[in-house]
Amino acid sequence: MFFKDIIGQEKAKRRLINEIKEGRIPHAQLFCGPEGVGKLPLAIAYARYINCQSPSDDDACGTCPNCIKFNKLIHPDLHFVFPVVKKKGASKPVVCDDYISTWRQFVLNNPYFTLNQWTKEMGVENQQAIIYSNESDEILKKLSFKSSQGGYKCVIIWLPEKMNVECSNKLLKILEEPPSMTIFLLISEQPDTLLTTILSRCQRFNLPAISEYDMTNMITNRFGIEEISAKEIAHASQGSVLKAIDTIQTNDEHKEFFDLFVSLMRLCYARKIREMKLWSETLASMGRERQKNFLTYCQNMIRENFIYNFHKDELNYMSSSEKQFSQKFAPFINEKNIFGIMNELSEAQSHIEQNVNAKMVFFDFSLKMIVLLIQK
Ligand SMILES: [Zn+2]
Repeated sequence: MFFKDIIGQEKAKRRLINEIKEGRIPHAQLFCGPEGVGKLPLAIAYARYINCQSPSDDDACGTCPNCIKFNKLIHPDLHFVFPVVKKKGASKPVVCDDYISTWRQFVLNNPYFTLNQWTKEMGVENQQAIIYSNESDEILKKLSFKSSQGGYKCVIIWLPEKMNVECSNKLLKILEEPPSMTIFLLISEQPDTLLTTILSRCQRFNLPAISEYDMTNMITNRFGIEEISAKEIAHASQGSVLKAIDTIQTNDEHKEFFDLFVSLMRLCYARKIREMKLWSETLASMGRERQKNFLTYCQNMIRENFIYNFHKDELNYMSSSEKQFSQKFAPFINEKNIFGIMNELSEAQSHIEQNVNAKMVFFDFSLKMIVLLIQK
């Protein structure tokens, strides 16, 4: 995580870097702001910058020994505290270190995420993730070691509002008498719920929403979406990367594929050959990659609908509109035809890969679906 990886927020980056250069490094900072504006990646970039051995004017070098360890978030002076959940049947109290490798990988893959997404990543849902009281003992223990390179020890606390009372009180003690060459970076979405005594120990740094200009750039560059739509999504995202990505995923290709899937199934069921032919022409007008993606989507939908019949909701990964469709459609996918349909789909996919005429491939597939759908 470098400053350059952070979406927008140029002013905030500049301010932090200038403060570091002027030697103003507060021992505790509270990064506040709404979800999805980049507080965590900014804190990590900050910690890297102050530990970098040859930083440039606007970012860490990326090649010094400290930077190399930061690349994998395994620098010995970089400590993370974040909400965790107790593993089933665990006898000893849970601490962040139990999840540290999962956490590192998760953050490296995409540093913009919600608490829900992190909880899911830990493999548990519908369970409250919190920062337990023993975590502050862990912090103390870690800080009692000498820093490895003589640099700053950095403790990044993600969502301190999830600390239980005991933990908050212990942390307060540490903040009152901070060890030397140690900095705390607290990242909060609900600073009002923190102990006022903790708030008063921290220098507050408010991170604003990401500007529409920066968000539009991110959307066009990363998702290849044309500028007009990107602007609309950026506007609706209200400066949150998370909201923007969510809109893209639900709105975009997914929705189109869903509509195409539904219309094909309806046409096949009603045996509307002429319309099926038009449908195949629509598909043929797409690029090969998208055609393949669509066939993958169909395979997922067939699988999901087959599973739907078992009424095991936890095994299903459909959106709400897909589920709604499945209420009536799922009974058509059963043990008599699922293998046949899946075979046809993978055959269509390999034909597309071999550049067989797409109109033929999709029309052929739709004709076969007429027969397969009535096998009950
Ligand atoms: Zn460096």
